[in-house]
Amino acid sequence: MDTYEIERIKRADWLELAFELFGRDLTDWTFVCPRCGQFQTARDMLRIGLQEDQIEENIGINCIGNFNPYNTGCFLKLSKNSREHELEIIMEDGRKQPIFKFLKPAT
Ligand SMILES: [Zn+2]
Repeated sequence: MDTYEIERIKRADWLELAFELFGRDLTDWTFVCPRCGQFQTARDMLRIGLQEDQIEENIGINCIGNFNPYNTGCFLKLSKNSREHELEIIMEDGRKQPIFKFLKPAT
């Protein structure tokens, strides 16, 4: 039996959630890799040498471990066939984008 469940969220709602959690500065948005649990932001990716035009295709999709010379052993890259992500964004055109979950503040 397949018990794998993916939460889906419309892009507009996902953006609203991000603004609520982290504000308007995209480099503050904090994602959690579902495999290694590492927190990661666009700022972290820029700091280890990614270029700005590489951020959008990687942040929340490919673990920072893929780029980090001090990698902790995680090379997760999400794709539509991934079985590790728990969240997908439904894009305006209906396409589903697998994405890491945001770091939720402790409640
Ligand atoms: Zn990872």
